Amino acid sequence: MEGSREQEPEPADAVGDPVCWLHLVCESCGALIEREGDPHRPGCDRQR
Ligand SMILES: [Zn+2]
Repeated sequence: MEGSREQEPEPADAVGDPVCWLHLVCESCGALIEREGDPHRPGCDRQR
């Protein structure tokens, strides 16, 4: 057992990143972002 405790195992089985679900509303444009890739409003600097 060497270097096996660097990080605790996280439940990555869920679809998408759990952190993303905390940001349902874009702080920049106010658009509803249910998941990564959802469209932002025109002019938003966070849209991809
Ligand atoms: Zn936005």
